[in-house]
Amino acid sequence: MNVVNLLEFDLDGLTAFCEQLGEKRFRSTQLFRWIHQKGASDFAQMSDLAKSLREKLAGVATLRPLAVASEQASSDGTIKWLFDVGGGDAVETVFIPEDDRGTLCISAQAGCAVGCRFCSTGHQGFSRNLSSGEIVAQLWYAEHHLRRRLKLADGERAITNVVMMGMGEPLQNYAALLPALRVMLDDHAYGLSRRRVTVSTSGVVPMIDRLRDDCPVALAVSLHAPNDALRDDLVPLNRKYPIAELLAACKRYLDKAPRDFITFEYCMLDGVNDTPELAQQLVELVRDTVSCKFNLIPFNPFPESGLKRSPRDRVTAFAHVLQDAGVVTTVRKTRGDDIDAACGQLAGEVQDRTRVKQRLSTRAPIRIHRAEDARHSEDAAPSRQETNA
Ligand code: SAH
Ligand code: SF4
Repeated sequence: MNVVNLLEFDLDGLTAFCEQLGEKRFRSTQLFRWIHQKGASDFAQMSDLAKSLREKLAGVATLRPLAVASEQASSDGTIKWLFDVGGGDAVETVFIPEDDRGTLCISAQAGCAVGCRFCSTGHQGFSRNLSSGEIVAQLWYAEHHLRRRLKLADGERAITNVVMMGMGEPLQNYAALLPALRVMLDDHAYGLSRRRVTVSTSGVVPMIDRLRDDCPVALAVSLHAPNDALRDDLVPLNRKYPIAELLAACKRYLDKAPRDFITFEYCMLDGVNDTPELAQQLVELVRDTVSCKFNLIPFNPFPESGLKRSPRDRVTAFAHVLQDAGVVTTVRKTRGDDIDAACGQLAGEVQDRTRVKQRLSTRAPIRIHRAEDARHSEDAAPSRQETNA
């Protein structure tokens, strides 16, 4: 029998596994709590588990954490871990502390096949999906490591929010994502509420519907453009699932969503998607269709992109157009700048097995719009700043 990694299982999966070993359901709950609530990695530590079960487990199961390749801490408290996932691939996980919460940004894939122009992960290409256990292992490690490091009292949690905004497109790895989400939400594990777990997607429409049916957590959709021509260019997946279909899926999602709005992320690219006209188009697009909030993300540059961050006054002007039309809009604070831990800078190490790099380099250069019109904005700031959904 192969040795099974228990981090792969949600509670139902663990129960089925324990039943195969001839154990009762409540035993699997105990085991699940030891793993996720107490961070135990050694069966010998699990003092209230029957000795016979501990011995049985020792032969057939293990708890396999990810290997930490490096850790970097930013001056603002952000911590970034690089985890070696074997085969020349490494993924990144980022902890972002704030006064009232601790957010963990988790990766879903080694690389990403969507290939968005402005995203460092997308430029690296795609290597492979992470397993459920590898997704959960990021949270398991961060939570228990931080509890010790921050000397938290019993019962205190380091991580209060999870965002699937690291490397990869979570909805292109749905089979692994779903059990991982269930572990995050389970009261016997991390007990996070659905509102505090956010899946961010570039718009895999059928999987938005699946998520709605299976496990409706908070949803963030990376929009980045108000029309198909521009979005086709920035987010190639748009050619498959154009904006109208994406918005229809968002609307369906709202029936079951834990929040009564969808968060639209919009990465502000200098001269590309940041004019007041495009902001107005966005208003027309979402007005009377989807209840939403906008989160404008100042572009985090990386050398190969050939793109630049929109100047601050242009971001402010863009936000004002949306706000004046009654669309709640925030500008994301950039965190972990000094350690390249900000959105879209997560690169890890990825063996490109799909030759995305080659495809990207043969694409036509991006069309830069002149944005003079956007320059005469005042410097009034958007209503509020926030870090994550
Ligand atoms: N694949 C998912 C989740 C990971 S990306 C998605 O695309 O939504 C998380 C967020 O970072 C997305 O909103 C993405 O558009 C944004 N992002 C990617 N590259 C960026 C960059 N260079 N600067 C700022 N934001 C970026
Ligand atoms: Fe993939 Fe998201 Fe990056 Fe696009 S922005 S390439 S979907 S990780």
